[in-house]
Amino acid sequence: MLRINELRLPLDHPEGVLRDAIVARLGIKPAELGEFTVFKRSYDARKPSAITLSYTVDMQLANEDALLAKFAGDRNVVRTPDTNYRFVGKAPEQLAHRPVVVGFGPCGIFAALILAQMGFRPIVLERGKAVRERTKDTWGLWRKSVLNPESNVQFGEGGAGTFSDGKLYSQIKDPKHYGRKVLTEFVKAGAPEEILYVSKPHIGTFRLVGMVETMRAEIIALGGEIRFQQRVADVRIEDGHLRGVVLANGEEIRSDHVILALGHSARDTFEMLHERGVYMEAKPFSVGFRVEHPQSLIDKARFGPNAGHPVLGAADYKLVHHAKNGRSVYSFCMCPGGTVVAATSEPNRVVTNGMSQYSRNERNANAGIVVGITPDDYPGGPLAGIAFQRHWESRAYELGGGDYIAPGQLVGDFIKGQPSSVLGSVEPSYKPGVKLGDLSTSLPDYAIAAVREALPAFERQIKGFSMCDAVLTGVETRTSSPLRITRGVDCQSLNVKGLYPAGEGAGYAGGILSAGVDGIRVAEAVAKSILGDVTVV
Ligand code: FAD
Repeated sequence: MLRINELRLPLDHPEGVLRDAIVARLGIKPAELGEFTVFKRSYDARKPSAITLSYTVDMQLANEDALLAKFAGDRNVVRTPDTNYRFVGKAPEQLAHRPVVVGFGPCGIFAALILAQMGFRPIVLERGKAVRERTKDTWGLWRKSVLNPESNVQFGEGGAGTFSDGKLYSQIKDPKHYGRKVLTEFVKAGAPEEILYVSKPHIGTFRLVGMVETMRAEIIALGGEIRFQQRVADVRIEDGHLRGVVLANGEEIRSDHVILALGHSARDTFEMLHERGVYMEAKPFSVGFRVEHPQSLIDKARFGPNAGHPVLGAADYKLVHHAKNGRSVYSFCMCPGGTVVAATSEPNRVVTNGMSQYSRNERNANAGIVVGITPDDYPGGPLAGIAFQRHWESRAYELGGGDYIAPGQLVGDFIKGQPSSVLGSVEPSYKPGVKLGDLSTSLPDYAIAAVREALPAFERQIKGFSMCDAVLTGVETRTSSPLRITRGVDCQSLNVKGLYPAGEGAGYAGGILSAGVDGIRVAEAVAKSILGDVTVV
């Protein structure tokens, strides 16, 4: 098979034109082109009035070698890379101890799935509830201000990304094409096929729920076991080797291979691991607010006369500003046509995030506008970032006046430094609700100053971005893990063998796709260790 990259066509090209474009690009006769498939489709909207689509296509041709020779040196005509996934091994008949996976978010799901597909029959321990029950608890916070600290947006089957926009792209390096395996498994579990070829795929919350259940069923059918409401409360370490985990109910499970796919909000578990001497270090993350604009404003700014085109969908954006005080401010986890959600897992704290449905047809666009911070901003060791997050999440709760109401301010007032009291044309979507006021004391001064400078600067990239009526809701503190549970090239903890820190909580992923990819990588490391294969993962 041969691949052509960057085959450009106008947005509104007729269906059959792609075949003609391939033939013209290669300079071949129409009959020489066999079957072809679209591997990726992206758009270039730098000129909104003349948006183009860019295709990567794979095709069957009779004379591939001759064509490759003809296009030698042209990086856009190449042999199609083999992106098929291959298992690193097969489980032995007798397993002394089954591997354990702690956490059933994207990282734990893919770690367990790959182990199960290789025959290792993993035991999964998840502190939260199964996804349908968990959905009720999550809505309990949003609709009735009742938080269940063990079953919420962060904890439960599917992990943190279940109630999300389900964006499935990442900028990680992926030479082994694990991302393709993640997307392929998602499609098998019910995701729309288009996630395999559109450049910025998303699934939306509703579909994710069903997909997570399907993947759970496959792991169980392959001999795996998934236990909900089983919080790991302790670890057994003997002579620098992990020998098992202890559940909150006192039950002990022996295992020499434990994957920790905890997510970034398992603060109690991080504390326990730190107490047990597992090596970890503070790492940078970001804090800020969610901003909401009318989606129509973003569509118009990005797509001009093509706003609303069905191929383009609701527009997103990606913004960065380097502030005078040395801080970087950037948009984070942008959710077109979505809602801002209450994302705390701890009582009496307020945390924001964003989600959407597949259709992305809610009235507002939202995104985190966040400021990069480093351990210098929260000195005091590996757990100091958690204390920092807690401080500002409690402050947001206080400013909101209780019942998980979030503090908010209009963008115009925030820039001018004056409190807000009345909403304008943008209705904030955060539930249980937003209390307007003054956000200037809701985050450290350097973060406030950087966001205040960035909002007008973003106006230069998206016309209307600093509109007075846009709403800021605070605070966004869980952008990534505040610490890293550092591992070696064998994916095991630096000082506890048999312990495999993985995914977002361990500092090795950020987002659904990269967490799934890391789950695969670590599952392979476990399989190799059990099989005595010493080649590097
Ligand atoms: P998690 O998904 O956090 O899973 C960790 C799991 O471990 C949880 O289920 C938790 O209950 C469990 N656990 C924790 N401690 C224990 C314990 N002691 N014992 C047993 N179980 C435990 N990313 C995207 O790529 N696209 C998006 O559109 C997107 N939107 C998001 C929207 C929201 C509202 C949120 C909160 C996040 C969003 N993210 C998104 C981020 C994404 O969800 C995470 O990056 C991803 O889920 C991380 O995967 P993970 O498996 O490493 O951890």
